[in-house]
Amino acid sequence: MAHEITAPHYGFLIDASLCIDCRTCMVSCSVENNVSMDTTRIWIEETGVTGTFPDLKRYTVPYHCMHCVDPSCASACTVGALHRNEEGIVTYDKDICIGCRYCMYACPFEVPNYEWEATLPLVVKCDMCAARLDEGQQPACATTCPTGAIRFGLYEDMLAEAHRMINENPGKYVNHVYGEEENGGTATLYISPVPFEELGFPIAGTSSPAYSNRLVTEGTPLVAGAMLVGLSGAYLTIKHLKEEAAAERREAEHAHAGEDHE
Ligand code: SF4
Ligand code: SF4
Ligand code: SF4
Repeated sequence: MAHEITAPHYGFLIDASLCIDCRTCMVSCSVENNVSMDTTRIWIEETGVTGTFPDLKRYTVPYHCMHCVDPSCASACTVGALHRNEEGIVTYDKDICIGCRYCMYACPFEVPNYEWEATLPLVVKCDMCAARLDEGQQPACATTCPTGAIRFGLYEDMLAEAHRMINENPGKYVNHVYGEEENGGTATLYISPVPFEELGFPIAGTSSPAYSNRLVTEGTPLVAGAMLVGLSGAYLTIKHLKEEAAAERREAEHAHAGEDHE
């Protein structure tokens, strides 16, 4: 069956310039999903303190599943526990999951977490608060962020807004909407005053390792039967793509940062 890739219906727009590290988003995610603060589906990335005294700065930003249009996690899952639905939300079915953790290795954004301490551990991943969306509500993190750093809406609107913010505020943001192209495109988009690398974001390529994974696992009858070989190939492809993309993106972001500070 042909693999269908469609644009996301919903999207997040997260603005690193507005986050004040209050962690309300983490608390609301913990309450919404009835999990401890150690296993929230959202966490904070940060630059650490940068600059020279007295002009010191520190940027923080929330981080959760990117909801990729071609999710590597779903491609790597051998039992179909991860699935991208019609609205572009990548969901997780705990009743199907066998705990192999291939999804954790496959995700170029290092998103899926694991309940290491639990007796029957599960993978931990944001589902865009799908239950809240079904009731016409916004995701908990977007609803509760006091500064508007996390916005949620139709994907096309979020993408247009990201570009509008960058274009209308010259010098405020690096000229890059993170997620527009990373891993083949994602429903979670970011804008930032500092290069994403400095926020600790993974430097993902512009095509999804899921594509290479499908070539290995579905491409020929010979390798389709050899799942272990296929998964090893996928892992090596992912590793290679990550390294290659890291070098390219690092160069591009440093160039943008240089332009913005000239
Ligand atoms: S609630 Fe908003 S401001 Fe507070 S940490 Fe989360 S994203 Fe940042
Ligand atoms: S960010 Fe990772 S866990 Fe989320 S959809 Fe993409 S590959 Fe899957
Ligand atoms: S959308 Fe919901 S599940 Fe995802 S990080 Fe926000 S609060 Fe947590």
